[in-house]
This record gives sequence, C-alpha cells and structure tokens, in this order.
Amino acid sequence: MNLEPHKVRSDRFDRYRSDGPSSLRGKLCLLRSNWRIFRMADARCSCGAVTLSLPKEPSKIIVACHCIDCQRRTGAPFGVGAYYPADVVTISGTSKEFTHAAASGGKIHNYFCPQCGSTVYWKLSNLPALIAVAVGAMAEPKYPAPVISVFEQSKHDWVQIDGAVEHFRQSSPKKNSN
Ligand SMILES: [Zn+2]
Ligand SMILES: [Zn+2]
Repeated sequence: MNLEPHKVRSDRFDRYRSDGPSSLRGKLCLLRSNWRIFRMADARCSCGAVTLSLPKEPSKIIVACHCIDCQRRTGAPFGVGAYYPADVVTISGTSKEFTHAAASGGKIHNYFCPQCGSTVYWKLSNLPALIAVAVGAMAEPKYPAPVISVFEQSKHDWVQIDGAVEHFRQSSPKKNSN
C-alpha cells in the first residue's frame, strides 16, 4: 500500500524514459532553454560585486558598436549594449565611473566594478533616460541579436553582423549610413 506513491512517481519517470534516455535529456534541455527564454538573465561583473536586475522582457534596442572606445573598453573588436529605460533597472553594488567624450557626441559615463574591472553598464549624456547594459554581462546566449550596428568605419573586416540590422558608418542619430 505504501508503495503506491512511489509507483506513481516511477510511472511518470518511465513515461519520459519510454523513448530512451537521450530523449529525456533532450526534454530537460528544452525545458531549461524555454525557461531561459522567458526568464532573461540579470547582468553582473566577473566577480559578482556589481549586479543589475533587468526586466523579463529583453530590450528592443540592442546596439553593436565598433567605435575605438568600445574596442578599448571591452578589449574585444566591438561592444554590444542593450538599452533599457533607466528606471526599470535596479543596480546593486558600488561601481566606479569613467567619463569621456562619446564618439557620437556628448559624454559617455562607463560604470565598472572596482574589484574585477568589468564594465557592466554605461550612460550617454545625450540619452539621459536610458541605461545601456553590456550584453556579455548577462551571460545569456539566447539574448536577441543587435538591431543596429554603428561606427562600422572602424569595424574589424572579419566581423559580420547579420540579420535585420541597420548599418551606420558612424552613429545612428547622424543618419550617415553607408
Ligand atoms: Zn566585479
Ligand atoms: Zn562605441
């Protein structure tokens, strides 16, 4: 009699098992990837001292930037930022700020972790209502692709941003697309 609940559990498991253990693995993977699609990751620096809590909905403004400043900031050939309304992002931890003239005009305020050096987010003085979050800091491979690619005048030749992307030789507000 006491074995009944155990039997039910076992039956449930067998249902997944009926078409082979690799299928069960597949279903678990699917479950996990669906979960990740609906629950987008928060962003954080390498050491975790600076974290950003983000809305569930991914940003609709995702920008790949090939300017020299982004290349130096990231150490990578280009930077990718997801822009959110500043008031929907919660920032935890203390970051340091590095401000300089932005290639697109105005100033850019970069915020990085003083312990590990990762830049987690930045703000543009020309777009004061928005905060740009470093897409790599989300460690979320399912995060949507960039929709705008700017400063392609300094893009590395081998870098190709495909899909429904608007391409600009400089910054998008200047409308100087190639
Ligand atoms: Zn850190
Ligand atoms: Zn840039």
